[in-house]
Amino acid sequence: MCLAVTATVSTRDHGKLVGLPSPVPGAPLPSPINPPDALAMLRQVFGFDSFRGEQAAIVGHLVDGGDALVLMPTGGGKSLCYQLPALLREGTAIVVSPLIALMQDQVETLRQLGVKAAYLNSALDPAQAARVERQLSHGELDLLYVAPERLLTPRFLGLLDQARIALFAIDEAHCVSQWGHDFRPEYRELTLLHERWPGVPRIALTATADAPTRHEIAERLGLEGARQFTSSFDRPNIRYAVVPREDGRRQLLDFLAGHRGHAGIVYCLSRRKVEETAAFLAREGIEALPYHAGLEAGVRAAHQRRFLREDGIVMVATIAFGMGIDKPDVRFVAHLDLPKSVEGYYQETGRAGRDGEPAEAWMAYSLGDAVQLRRMIDSAESGEERKRLEHRKLDALVGYCESAGCRRQSLLAWFGEAHPGHCGNCDNCLSPPRQWDATVAAQKSLSCVFRTGQRFGAAHLVDILRGADTAKVRQFGHERLSTYGIGTELDARQWRSVFRQLVAAGLLEVDMEGHGALRLTADSAAVLKGEREVRLREDPARPVRRVRAARSATGTPLPDLALPPEASTRFEALRAWRSAAARAQNVPAYVIFHDRTLREIALAAPRGLDELAGVPGVGTAKLERYGQEILSLLQ
Ligand code: ADP
Ligand code: ZN
Repeated sequence: MCLAVTATVSTRDHGKLVGLPSPVPGAPLPSPINPPDALAMLRQVFGFDSFRGEQAAIVGHLVDGGDALVLMPTGGGKSLCYQLPALLREGTAIVVSPLIALMQDQVETLRQLGVKAAYLNSALDPAQAARVERQLSHGELDLLYVAPERLLTPRFLGLLDQARIALFAIDEAHCVSQWGHDFRPEYRELTLLHERWPGVPRIALTATADAPTRHEIAERLGLEGARQFTSSFDRPNIRYAVVPREDGRRQLLDFLAGHRGHAGIVYCLSRRKVEETAAFLAREGIEALPYHAGLEAGVRAAHQRRFLREDGIVMVATIAFGMGIDKPDVRFVAHLDLPKSVEGYYQETGRAGRDGEPAEAWMAYSLGDAVQLRRMIDSAESGEERKRLEHRKLDALVGYCESAGCRRQSLLAWFGEAHPGHCGNCDNCLSPPRQWDATVAAQKSLSCVFRTGQRFGAAHLVDILRGADTAKVRQFGHERLSTYGIGTELDARQWRSVFRQLVAAGLLEVDMEGHGALRLTADSAAVLKGEREVRLREDPARPVRRVRAARSATGTPLPDLALPPEASTRFEALRAWRSAAARAQNVPAYVIFHDRTLREIALAAPRGLDELAGVPGVGTAKLERYGQEILSLLQ
């Protein structure tokens, strides 16, 4: 790849460039006047009007030399928190980042903004790496992204001794936690930075929010004294919906009908299901690609690359896919199986809508998923304590799925954040589920569990209640039970819903030693004795046929992304131009401009460079580079 820094405006000279023509090549640059303040720099380099949330405070703290621990949800705007101080402080900012793809994207995005950024990782050949090292020593870089294992080599540490360091940024800081599945042992050694360069400010950033992980990060990175900046973890632009899975593929297709041409991720539990689902979607005319750890590395990389660079690819993946994917315009994340925990679910769904535009998180799950996950937990080689913890996490997620209340409220509660509920942007808020008095149904279910010896799963129990004539019923003589055929008032789907909710409510539990059989709990007796009333949610009826019109998972249209006709024509023209420009430069389309910026340009229909400069997302470097092309395109 080409390492030449494009659009090399020295960022520390930005203050002088406002409204001035580009310096004549070769002519000496005027010496710096006052260092531009953070807000001016934000506007000029990034083209943003204002800071979001805590960004201003974090930038100020770092510029003043303080250490920071930043907890911000995905899409919250973490990168700016160290990128701006990198420009405002003398020297090069060293950014520790765990993933090569992520580094490349970030560096490309910065270069498009005219910032002098580079990365050092195993993707570079020795000559390229040597060149970056030279740039570092000569003080020619504002930011240098580096993988932790590279950073910790004596050679690189020696290089840093020669260089002027603006700050250390430790991205994806939760990689230091041995409890998470992103654990990277090298992160543990990063305390060395502070010991060796005590005067250089450090900032650690993560979107992983739970309290134990936070403590572990602060402790393991020696950041106990750092100021903590915690943002709300709410992602208001994401709409949450959960449906009971009946015919998963059909349901997925129905959901995808509302996302024609959108990029999205479909998560499945197993590699095989990934392959099958991707093939199924492809047969249905959807551009879907599989991704899992069992695929050959070259294929995986190619699929990831297409997902990042092309518009509207659907990635069908196991959780092996996702960390470090900062594609901003992922419009949906669908789970075709239950994830393992609320944290995992939140992290995965958080990959939708980083650009702040409306996005959807949709999940189809069944009780069988929970049984399968429990089996996986129990058969793992981990200690008892760990297993108990994982079961509890799974319980919490099942509770979330079966909840009749605001999804956002229960998600945020898991992260210790209060939310008043009624968010207006989840399935339960948009169409509140009806509740019914399920006391009698619960009694029938529990008694059926009891009479069959607490040895069977939901499917067989439903058959008994419905009076089905199956081989298994006859084999065990279950047609002679008093509960046989006493449940014809509900159909099989409704009975499955009852069993799921009884499990979620702790009135039944899954017996893992009994291969996923349901058994009674301490609370079941009160229901059986008629001392406790049970209210359950009524699952929404399934759509009778597939609707091909744009709609969301909840049947309520997503907030409008549509433009008036004339602006829409301009938007399409801008998108086509962007695709061509991205291909020519071999970069993802979104590093040139986000959809949101193109939409704003299409709406504003600017007639001159000054008007174009006023559009959010258009900074100085991009104005200089693309301004004329865009204006002539719009004419
Ligand atoms: P994170 O790393 O926290 O997931 P990013 O740093 O990738 O988030 O930022 C998410 C998106 O928000 C990016 O597209 C970024 O350009 C945009 N963004 C960040 N800060 C601002 C801001 N102050 N104003 C407008 N957009 C912003
Ligand atoms: Zn809600």
